[in-house]
Formats: sequence, structure tokens, C-alpha cells
Amino acid sequence: MKRDGFNVSLWQGRPAFIPKNTTLPAGKQDVVIVGGGITGITTALQLQKAGKKCTLIEAQEIGFGTTGGTTAHLNTMMDTPYYEIRQKFNSEAADKIARLSESAITLIRSNVKEYGIDCSLSTKPGYLCAKDDKQADLLDKILQSCQEVHLPATCATSVPTPTPYIKAMQIQEQAQFHPLDYILALAQHFEAIGGHIIHDCRMTGFSEEDKLLTIQTSKGDVKADALIYATHIPPGVNMLHFLCAPYRTYAIAVKLKGDNYPDALIYDLDDPYHYFRTQEVDGERYLIAGGEDHKTGHEENTHERFKCLEAYVRKYYDVDHVAYQWSSQYYEPADGLPYIGHLPGNPDNVYVATGFGGNGMIYGTASAVILTALITKGESEYGTLLSPDRVKPMASMGNVMKEGATVTKDMITGWLSIPKLEEAAGLAKGEAKVVKYEGKTVALYKDNNGALHAVNPACPHIKCSVGWNNAEKSWDCPCHGSRFSYTGELLTGPSSSDLEKIDLREE
Ligand SMILES: Cc1cc2nc3c(=O)[nH]c(=O)nc-3n(C[C@H](O)[C@H](O)[C@H](O)COP(=O)(O)OP(=O)(O)OC[C@H]3O[C@@H](n4cnc5c(N)ncnc54)[C@H](O)[C@@H]3O)c2cc1C
Repeated sequence: MKRDGFNVSLWQGRPAFIPKNTTLPAGKQDVVIVGGGITGITTALQLQKAGKKCTLIEAQEIGFGTTGGTTAHLNTMMDTPYYEIRQKFNSEAADKIARLSESAITLIRSNVKEYGIDCSLSTKPGYLCAKDDKQADLLDKILQSCQEVHLPATCATSVPTPTPYIKAMQIQEQAQFHPLDYILALAQHFEAIGGHIIHDCRMTGFSEEDKLLTIQTSKGDVKADALIYATHIPPGVNMLHFLCAPYRTYAIAVKLKGDNYPDALIYDLDDPYHYFRTQEVDGERYLIAGGEDHKTGHEENTHERFKCLEAYVRKYYDVDHVAYQWSSQYYEPADGLPYIGHLPGNPDNVYVATGFGGNGMIYGTASAVILTALITKGESEYGTLLSPDRVKPMASMGNVMKEGATVTKDMITGWLSIPKLEEAAGLAKGEAKVVKYEGKTVALYKDNNGALHAVNPACPHIKCSVGWNNAEKSWDCPCHGSRFSYTGELLTGPSSSDLEKIDLREE
């Protein structure tokens, strides 16, 4: 399977999904869902089961986005602690998020059972560990707030981990699974009950007349009564791009020399944090470790993050070899809760699900329930709490969106000389750089065969200048997380188009 990165994740060794259809359906659809990750597929299936006629369009293939690069813990202990939700919202909100996370795991369990999905779903205890007094104070607050929302959390007397800790908590009823085995099966069942999936179909825009939407795509137009952006972040320019900060995070799957694989989900409270779990794939056991997060486009040497993660794991575990390493992107919401519901600034029948942080398996699944309720009943019990309309646009938004980033406006016309660029950049094979050349700014990558690839570094979204991600061999935008291959092909929105390619000639 393909993914939006150069590195191969633990999950990708599956044959790509082959949809039954290659062209858009001719008739009007009840709902068009854009995006074939866990959010889009779960939502499409829920809506189709509720009697709606649905089409899911995916720019690449099912699982191409972050769902193909996740680490697939299913948690009720969320990244935004319950005490923080209570402070920023109220106690009722904290309680609702706890119930929502439980119901998402229940929905995954019931899908697995109903469709007989073989995705190694298993229930595990989760442990959160503190290694000094300051972390222990934080742990106490997290534990107490989990108990206040009636989650099965207690103080732990021992943790199945060789990593150091002075205090820990345990939470029952967490889970894990193989995310692609799960969504591939859901996609199959969606088609089996009449849903359409179209691959290689990028949505490029829409128009509305009398509540009927005409959705434009790279494979033509399709009409629908409702549209859902399950694209991880919506395309175009929207206030949600200001409210969701893109982060890159790293994972490795290692084989151990002995048998010391933990049978639990284990997290620390370091900054950046680390986590561990065990996963069996095709009869082989792996220790998955993750962390080392940073804001997208704000790290010059992303390879280094893998090295730090590996060094941390090797310090405590007897590692035989690193079998997989990959990184991927998530979006951190400004107030700690996701944005699920009507997309601000758009007609009432346009919806979005974004800002999941590191809990997108849960919030993506919960989005399916919330959006199905909003579309079929006009309301959801979580509607107000998670509505993207809860935040009002600010007059200064446009400026803040570009803050701290270099903005590039040059158009690059004509062709550029390879020998002169070679001289200006001085790149070794496998290296990339943004260079100034004859008054123009050029993003250059020299591949392992010595060929130069040049693109205009101005991200088409709002013209921030992209930076090189050497681990995933992509140009990443530090403003809103759009990502492009070294040839400029769009990998991840919110940009809707490729980086401008520059014609290079030997003189
Ligand atoms: C390394 C890492 C580890 C994580 N671990 C966990 C975890 O343990 N537990 C957890 O709950 N969450 C975790 N998360 C978060 C979780 O993986 C994501 O939030 C989740 O996968 C997002 O799913 P999605 O379906 O919303 O988006 P995606 O999986 O990104 O899918 C969006 C799809 O939309 C398509 N698309 C985009 N634009 C268009 C367009 N214009 N037209 C057509 N298609 C389009 C893309 O090609 C893509 O396939 C992790 C994230 C990372 C980065």
C-alpha cells in the first residue's frame, strides 16, 4: 500500500484496496465523503447503513494518509487530560469525552464482531509513568481526573517496562489493532452494501445552488445533498487551519533479542514523550516505540529524531534490529478538543472532522457517529461541544496564519540552468536545500542517482516557504502542514495543488 511518506510503516505490507468502480456515479448522492482514512471510511459505512446513498472519494488510495502511518492505540485516556478539559470547558465536557472515547472503542469492537474482521484487535491495560516528582504531581492530577469521569484508573504498583519510573497509574479497557486491516475490511463492507469508493479522485472544489452541492473532482463532477471533509485537515483556506497546528511524530518497530515484549500500552510524561506497545503482524512480534514530536517544518534534520528514538529504546530494551521506521503528521487543536460538525464559512450541509491530535483512531471513529447523527437527525449529543463553530473568526486571522514563516511570492518563469544551480547549491546526493539563485528562491533536491529536482518553495496554500524533511523526502510547509514529494506532487493538504515545478536544462 502507498503512504504519504518515503518510509514504510509496519502496516503497509498489504495489497492495495481495489474499488469496484473507477468512475463517479452518475446520479445524485445523499452524501459525498472526501478522504479514505479511518474517519472517512467509518463515516461512509455508518451513513450507508443508516440508509444514505454515499460515495467516498480518495485522492490516492485507501489508507494513504495518516491512518497508514499511525501507531493504533485505542485509548480512553486522551492526550488532552480530563482535568484540562474540565478547566477549558467544564466537568460535563470532560465526562462527555470519556463516554465518547468509550463508545468509539465499543463501535470498533462491534464492527470487528459484526463483519468478522481479522485485525488483531485486543484489549490491553494502559500505564502512564512518572520518573520525577514534578511528573508525579502531573500524574496524580491525570489519575484523579480519570477517576472523576468514571474511567477504570488506579495507582499502579508495578509496570511491565524496563524504563525508569517512580510512580505510575494503570487504566483498564484500552485496546490496540492493525489499522489498515481494520479500514480495508470496512471499505469492503461499505461497497458490499451499495457504497461507492473512487480512488485517484481529488476533490478540487464545490458550488451550491438551492442546497444542492456540485462537487468538482479530478474525475468530473458529482452532485450531493451533503459533503464531508474527512481529509484530516480540510483543503482551502479556513479558520480551522489557524486552530489546528500540524506536528510530525516518529515511530519505530523493532525486533528484540529476548522475549521482553510488554503486554500493555505504556506512556511516559517526558517532553517530547515516548510510548511503547507490542504488535504481532503476520506471525512476527514487534515492539512499537514512538514520540519525538515537533511542529511540522520546524526541524532541519528529521533523521536525527529517528536516531534519538532508537537510542532511547536501545537504552532499555535488548534490541536485535529496527525492522520499520516511519513518521507521520497529526493536527493539534487549539483548545484540546477536535472540530467535528459544520465547516465554518460554508453552506450548512458541508461538514468536517479534524484536530484529532494523537487520538484520531478514537475521534475519527467518533466522528462517524456524530456526523451520521447530524446528517440523519439534525443533531448529536456531542454537537455543541465539538462543533467547529464554537470558535469565532478573528479579524487578525490572516496575519496570524503566516506568522513566523517565510512567505515566498516569486513566480518562476522560463527554465534554469542545471550547472549553475549545481554550483550555487553544492548538494551531495540525497541532499536538499532552498537556495537563492539569480534573485529567485528555488527548492532543490539531488536524488541518489545525482539528478536535480527543482520546485518553487512557495506553498500554493498561502505562499509560506516549505522546508525539507530529510527522513520522508518531502517538502513540508511549516504554516499549515501541506506536504509535497521532492518532485512537487501534493501529498497532504490543505494545499489543493502541487508545488510549481521548475524546468531545468543543461544550458
Ligand atoms: C505517528 C502517529 C501515531 C499516531 N498514533 C495514534 C494512536 O496510537 N491512536 C490514535 O487514536 N491516534 C493516533 N494518531 C492519530 C491518528 O492516526 C490520525 O488522527 C488519524 O489516522 C486520522 O485519520 P483521518 O481518516 O482523519 O485522516 P487520514 O488518514 O490522513 O486520511 C485522510 C485522507 O484524505 C485524503 N484526501 C485529502 N485531501 C483530499 C482531497 N482533496 N480529495 C480526496 N481525498 C483527499 C488523503 O489522501 C488521505 O488518504 C497518530 C498519528 C501519528 C502521526
